[in-house]
Amino acid sequence: MEQFMLQTPPEGFIDITRKVAEIVHRSQVRQGICQVFVPHTTAGVTINENADPDVVHDLLAALNTMAPALRYRHGEGNSPAHLKSLLTGSSVMVPVEDGALRLGTWQGIYFCEYDGPRQRRVQVQILGEAKE
Ligand code: ZN
Repeated sequence: MEQFMLQTPPEGFIDITRKVAEIVHRSQVRQGICQVFVPHTTAGVTINENADPDVVHDLLAALNTMAPALRYRHGEGNSPAHLKSLLTGSSVMVPVEDGALRLGTWQGIYFCEYDGPRQRRVQVQILGEAKE
């Protein structure tokens, strides 16, 4: 397992595709699965379009409308961030083929910050075979 740290903004989707791809390359795994896991309860990880940056901007705006202003019991005051973390989830899996992430043409891997700025951790585990 490898990990890397991110210094995040107050909220936003951060493209981590290149960092994950470098870890896949270093692992020398040719065929397998790459799991990206975020060990946080007010952040997430997801796969979505990386061609038009307006897409992730719109997704975050929509997620913000899905977290209603309820009278939450959680005293930390960040219950909407916990809810958005639930919606995007804490891990994604991507096929590894010929030693590279096999993402779709328009796909990127995003770390989703909902309660920053913070120092965050991303864990990457690659399961598979090193030879063809
Ligand atoms: Zn909390």
